[in-house]
Amino acid sequence: MEIQLHDKVFTPFISQDVIAGEVKRLATALKKDLKDEVPLFIGILNGSFLFAADFIRNYKGDCEVSFVKFSSYEGTASTGEVKQLLGINEDLTGRTVVILEDIVDTGNTLEEIYQVFEDKGVKALKIVTLFYKPSVFKKDLKIDYIGFEIPNTFIVGYGLDYDGYGRNIPSIYQLKLPNQMKNIVLFGPPGAGKGTQAKLLKDKFNLVHISTGDVFRFNIKNDTALGRLAKTFMDKGDLVSDEVTIKMLKAEVAKYPDAKGFIFDGFPRTEDQAYALDLFLAEKGMTINAMIALEADEDTLVSRILERGKTSGRVDDQDESKIRNRFNEYETKTAPLNSYYANQGKYIGVNGIGDIAEITERLSAEIEKL
Ligand code: AMP
Repeated sequence: MEIQLHDKVFTPFISQDVIAGEVKRLATALKKDLKDEVPLFIGILNGSFLFAADFIRNYKGDCEVSFVKFSSYEGTASTGEVKQLLGINEDLTGRTVVILEDIVDTGNTLEEIYQVFEDKGVKALKIVTLFYKPSVFKKDLKIDYIGFEIPNTFIVGYGLDYDGYGRNIPSIYQLKLPNQMKNIVLFGPPGAGKGTQAKLLKDKFNLVHISTGDVFRFNIKNDTALGRLAKTFMDKGDLVSDEVTIKMLKAEVAKYPDAKGFIFDGFPRTEDQAYALDLFLAEKGMTINAMIALEADEDTLVSRILERGKTSGRVDDQDESKIRNRFNEYETKTAPLNSYYANQGKYIGVNGIGDIAEITERLSAEIEKL
């Protein structure tokens, strides 16, 4: 999971899939705004070469491409000194120039870019950056398109380097900080014991447990607008809409600014939710460390849930056809998340059959390894 470059250790931060999604979104948004205009893309070397390559592949329209080289970094700290090293030879008069930057932090390079293009007679100058650090940006300069707003952490990969290394890594890593958080998605079909285990693990590892099912039930009990909305889905065993669920999840996470980590239980349940969670965590410099999945077969679980239904009072626990519908929702919408996390190297399967303490042990062993 971790990598070492020179003397420093880095941990996974933003996955290839999430980067690809943002690059595509940016290219699509720009095309929509430029309509039939033919832009000249200018990539800022070295860092933006991978981003520029992927961006223009996603740009569905005629365009030209050039590169220019500035240098602003030495090691991990911004030097504040920016020099133009390589210029461009094209005549820019009347052109729509689109700058492709990998990262904007202090804004020194961006200022240089604005100065360089000031007297070139361009028709329009647009700035696209994949990463932006709002907390350190000191300039009053426009950035037209922003991929990820991230905190002031040092990142490598996808073209960005630490002292020359790391540009070839396809995803983004961040410099490992002491006491880094552990964020876990506890996963599994209905009745697998996620809630039970999450309650035990949160105490053991001092994590915040967020169960979207519990939050919905709390809202239903208190008859809030959210609760009334969620109830219509939940009573049938259907999933609540992504929009509502994601918004609620964000609000829950925001309640714990000092958390040492989170156990997400019952979230994400769709690929859109997983993607939204990754984006949202990236904004906070956080990431999911692992998806730990409790594995168990459906028939065992249906009888477990019916048993629970006798005492839990949950409407969706008492009727076999509603329970089967929850499994159907799980198989079609949620189970594909296994590969979403497996692609990121974060999937960990754990046998979910056995007694509670035994399963807690199995899960704990995996969490300790993170
Ligand atoms: P749970 O307690 O996790 O079994 O969730 C119970 C019900 O709450 C589900 O069947 C859904 O109707 C709803 N729910 C909980 N979490 C989510 C989610 N992440 N997305 C959509 N619906 C959810």
